[in-house]
Amino acid sequence: MPLHLYNTLTRQKELFEPNTPNHVDLYMCGPTVYDDAHLGHARCYVAWDVLIRAMRYMGYTVNNARNLTDVDDKILNRARENNVPFGKWAKRYTQRFHEDMAALNVAPPTHEPKATEHIEDIINGCQVLIDNGHAYATDAGNVYYRTSAKADYGKLSKKPLDDLKTGARVEGETDKESPLDFALWKATPSDDTDSWAAPFGGSGKGRPGWHMECSAMNHRLFKGQLDIHTGGADLTFPHHENEIAQSEAWSGCQPYAKYWLHNGFVTVDNDKMSKSLGNFATIRDLLQKYNADTLRHFLLTHHYRMPVDFTPEALDGAANRVEKIHRSLKKAADALELVPDVLAEFDALAHNSNDPTVVQFVAALNDDINTPRALAAMDEAIQHLNTTLQTNGNNPAIVRDAFWPVWTCYTVLGYTTAGIFSGDTLPTSLKQPLQLLATQLGITPKKTIEAMLQAIIEHRSTAKANKDWATSDNIRSSLASQGVTLEDSKDGTTWSYKAPATMVTG
Ligand SMILES: [Zn+2]
Repeated sequence: MPLHLYNTLTRQKELFEPNTPNHVDLYMCGPTVYDDAHLGHARCYVAWDVLIRAMRYMGYTVNNARNLTDVDDKILNRARENNVPFGKWAKRYTQRFHEDMAALNVAPPTHEPKATEHIEDIINGCQVLIDNGHAYATDAGNVYYRTSAKADYGKLSKKPLDDLKTGARVEGETDKESPLDFALWKATPSDDTDSWAAPFGGSGKGRPGWHMECSAMNHRLFKGQLDIHTGGADLTFPHHENEIAQSEAWSGCQPYAKYWLHNGFVTVDNDKMSKSLGNFATIRDLLQKYNADTLRHFLLTHHYRMPVDFTPEALDGAANRVEKIHRSLKKAADALELVPDVLAEFDALAHNSNDPTVVQFVAALNDDINTPRALAAMDEAIQHLNTTLQTNGNNPAIVRDAFWPVWTCYTVLGYTTAGIFSGDTLPTSLKQPLQLLATQLGITPKKTIEAMLQAIIEHRSTAKANKDWATSDNIRSSLASQGVTLEDSKDGTTWSYKAPATMVTG
């Protein structure tokens, strides 16, 4: 079955047929940069990250944009409260958002347009809509979209217009023709310093309406026609409904976006996690306690359209699972003496896979990016890898065959490699002493420092099993002198590294 996606516009799962074969133009609504992003944001960006990774894996080229709303009442208010120019405030939270996305291994978008860099496009769009009768400027200098001019207004949210009117009420907008009309441009007083000159009358100054930003950026980047538009379910109305109205009236092309994908909320005790409810956990705070793969795994255990209920127990469960996945991959990576460079070959192989678990994995993704089912396929591949490591751990060819299906699933779902190739984080100064110790113990040299360390630890485990305490103790103290501490438990031996004091000074 080829890729099918659930389209909010038609309320059904549809065969995905982009406007240009094998190419996807995708737009997602990005953050308003006034505060740190929380788990609800992580949910949205991780979901679309997997969508994009999956489509790229399936052979599509994906040209995608994620905008930054860097001027908005929330930003202005926060900046004023803190006596900081709003541009500086927005820049600070843009930077922090980038750090959060990088930490979560969310791939950067092809384009990241900023509202403040598209003011001219926004003003031009307003003018086009005024000229073709889809918008009007009022005496105050506000510009509104005339919803009555578009016969199919409401086609995305599919609610009666009376219901939409209730949802669309915005305080202070008393000069509209209809309550359903919405602001494209908001006039500001003539002494307002955080605004732009505009030809719409009133004070001659103003700021863009939020909905118009996305239409203007899309008009610039994609000529106003998209294959996929994504966002949180809460954006369906009014934001996305209004984007459609603006963009279709501006470009004269329909549909603005062929497929509309919306992700479900993260909930806490059945309430949506949000800034306004104050029940949120920031990505930063969560990353203090859990690694990025744990957060990703927790989110991916739910289909992107379903709600995710946030509980510490569920996150702890995800942490356990991820640790096991990492352990299996680490073992295989060590057995194969893999370094990140070598893995490029595995990616190429993965494209031509007939492996039954990879086939299942791809089928799950083709079914509206069904990540719970994709994870089940990955689990099967991991089980096979674990069995292979036990029975044929010394046979690289066999381990390799069991390893790469796992690797394919793992990377397409966007997990990080940091936990698996931590050998790269060990200082090169350890290479020689470890090589020396390994030679003394009669261990064949390994390619990476960590593989060597792992081999030494295994040698010690064997020595311990043979009650050869002298060798075991010797290894422990030799490693300790290099800053490597061993910890024995019933599950085996783990290590940690801290540069010895003598190496730190000077
Ligand atoms: Zn948007």
